Amino acid sequence: MPEKYCSFCGRPESSVNMLISGLDGYICDDCARQAYEITKAEFDDNDSFDDFAGLDELKKPKDIYNYLNQYVIGQDEAKKTLSVAVYNHYKRLLQKDTGDDVEIEKSNVIMIGETGTGKTLMARTIAKMLDVPFAIVDATVLTQAGYVGEDVETILTRLLQAADYDVNKAERGIVFIDEIDKIARKGDNPSITRDVSGEGVQQALLKLLEGTIVNVPPQGGRKHPNQEFIKVNTQNILFIAGGAFAGLDKIISKRINMKPLGYQAQKQEHIDEDNILRYAIPTDLRKYGLIPEIIGRLPVLTYLNSLDRKTLKRILTEPKNALIKQYKKLFEMDGIKLIVKDEALDYIVDKSIEYKLGARGLRSLVEATLKDDMFALPGTNRKKLVVDKEYVEQKLSQNLLDKISKAS
Ligand code: ADP
Repeated sequence: MPEKYCSFCGRPESSVNMLISGLDGYICDDCARQAYEITKAEFDDNDSFDDFAGLDELKKPKDIYNYLNQYVIGQDEAKKTLSVAVYNHYKRLLQKDTGDDVEIEKSNVIMIGETGTGKTLMARTIAKMLDVPFAIVDATVLTQAGYVGEDVETILTRLLQAADYDVNKAERGIVFIDEIDKIARKGDNPSITRDVSGEGVQQALLKLLEGTIVNVPPQGGRKHPNQEFIKVNTQNILFIAGGAFAGLDKIISKRINMKPLGYQAQKQEHIDEDNILRYAIPTDLRKYGLIPEIIGRLPVLTYLNSLDRKTLKRILTEPKNALIKQYKKLFEMDGIKLIVKDEALDYIVDKSIEYKLGARGLRSLVEATLKDDMFALPGTNRKKLVVDKEYVEQKLSQNLLDKISKAS
């Protein structure tokens, strides 16, 4: 079969990434992109391509914060920091060339906090509010080129998928990189067991975080030479990284306790020992094994508190789609009024703490509590189910708790 050529630049199929056929000729990916840029520039003058018409339409930090409040309990500091970072990020997208050389840089975020304290929830909630594509990637599956695993470019594959392959939309999306701590350089930190150099992955991530045009394999997986790629510009993508950073507290405590000479004499300020992560500074992350360049590209650092009894209880009932509200609705659809007494909530929270299940475990506990009656009651003429402490005690047997604990 004779080789096909791009009807615009004349290059043969073998030297382009992709050739799209038309009625009477072909166009290569480069020319298609150029054509797009030309039309975009033309229409931009009329603002037709602008998603954000102006600053007035941007959600203000307080709006973002209030929205987060409907879904995320506590974590005030992280909510405020994130609200400002997101606002600044979208302001940056609006910045016009004012000729004053002041260019607003990316405000990618790094959140540190135990697993299950709301990091993903927060990133996801913001994406939902802004109605932008959102992708979660686990840093542990990423490897540097040449190793078994996924190339960092597949992060953008997920985002493209979330945007239904609308490149324009994806380029304004949010990516949450989970478990960023697991790609820390293997140093003197005993909690890092990863062998394939995490540093290689960190290096590969740098460009992405900073803003570059990336060839993205549309289906993910390993890149291979004959694959067609989609070009994605990461310049305006907001990256939010999260990690538990087990052991970071020791690094922070050590630093805090090593006050310069003469400082000891001054009045010691009160240290919140229960939430030592709140004192984290970039140098601590460096000690932990993140390379300075990565830290530099995640300039906004914030922390999440561990969830105490009171917060866990609020999580059960307060968020807009709180667990208890969801189960009430499920029963309501069968005409049954579900009443969960306060003492029952306390008992569930106690078990979650005792078995170290955190917020994530709450669902399993509530589900296990109500399962029998969710099976038995529909179709009967029961109109009410009252759940008190004895009820939960009876349902959550030691055996069952052990099972839930093992599964989590
Ligand atoms: P992380 O990303 O920190 O590991 P997640 O955001 O995935 O934790 O939290 C797991 C689940 O626990 C969430 O889906 C949510 O149901 C609940 N949760 C955790 N923290 C909170 C919080 N602060 N407020 C409300 N729900 C929370």
